[in-house]
Amino acid sequence: MNLTDFEPKSMLVVPETKVDKAKYPAIDVHTHVYMYPTKSSKDMGANTKQIPAEQVDQIVRWMDEMNVETLINSTGGYGEDLQRTVEELVKRHPGRFLTMTEPAWDKVGEPGYANWQADEIKRARDAGAVGIKVLKTLGVYLRERGDEGPLIKVDDPRFDPMWDVAGQLNMPVSIHTSDPDAFFTPIDRFNERWEELGNHPDWSFYGKDYPSKPELLAARNRMFEKHPKTKFVGYHIANHPENLGEVSQWLDRYPNLYVETGARLGELGRQPYSARKFFLKYADRIMFGTDATPNGEAYPQQDLKPAMYRCYFRFFETMDEYFDYSPAAVPPQGRWRIYGIGLPDDVLKKVYRNNAAKLYGLKAV
Ligand SMILES: [Zn+2]
Repeated sequence: MNLTDFEPKSMLVVPETKVDKAKYPAIDVHTHVYMYPTKSSKDMGANTKQIPAEQVDQIVRWMDEMNVETLINSTGGYGEDLQRTVEELVKRHPGRFLTMTEPAWDKVGEPGYANWQADEIKRARDAGAVGIKVLKTLGVYLRERGDEGPLIKVDDPRFDPMWDVAGQLNMPVSIHTSDPDAFFTPIDRFNERWEELGNHPDWSFYGKDYPSKPELLAARNRMFEKHPKTKFVGYHIANHPENLGEVSQWLDRYPNLYVETGARLGELGRQPYSARKFFLKYADRIMFGTDATPNGEAYPQQDLKPAMYRCYFRFFETMDEYFDYSPAAVPPQGRWRIYGIGLPDDVLKKVYRNNAAKLYGLKAV
């Protein structure tokens, strides 16, 4: 038998708690219900097939079933795409969906881009966007002169007017910089995500002219520091759930930084003691997010279905031991399992909903 065929069934007999719905109404701050064929989505090879209205209605029924009040769609595009997102998603089910806008990366090389982009953010606000989403494009794909030149740095001053305007308009900037630590190391027998990278070799940013992961995160952190009046949401636990000690230092250093949990249960749940301490200490700065996508074939841990959401509820709410972080038959990010952190009610309320409500100007409950 090959190790890749190994699907060991745990012989442990330990409590299994079924958590069908969130204990308190939840806002998922990180989803991709809609995604457009932008430069970012093309770079990442994301599936941008638009889902039909009936599928959106089905998602709302699932949300009711799971006590999920609102999904924040991060990839709402800009210009006409954004208008379409607002019409079809936000207005079709009032209160259930919000959307962010995205920078127009394809225009970065044009003269006058910096001020145009800042004005475009104002227009996006008027059109109904509640925040800005920066995909990992910035840092590992976006280059000077189209795809020809050197990579553009995360703290490039061309973006300063956009970050400042976001602060003035109270639009939080959700930012994904770099990727898991293991995507920046050789794909060899020591790589903890060897199997995942074997399935998706293009997800590796090791070698070529890629900056190291610490360089990318340092540039991002300089940007947090340079724009203290702008609120930033570091997606995926500020893209460093492998080292909660370091993320804690950033949260201490940058009061304008918040984090969310999207697609990182596999990291958080295999360090339950550290994770629980982290959630208790930063209960006002951590938000529930899943990175859910309805076109999620390549990302089973993000497939927008109740089974995926229930892994999160179980992790947050129970002290269950050694369970799956994804409904997939084989754990997609690595062959390990997780442990619940049984958060107290006051922390659950903040993480599930109230931190996001505050950040996005919604009513607290
Ligand atoms: Zn995402």
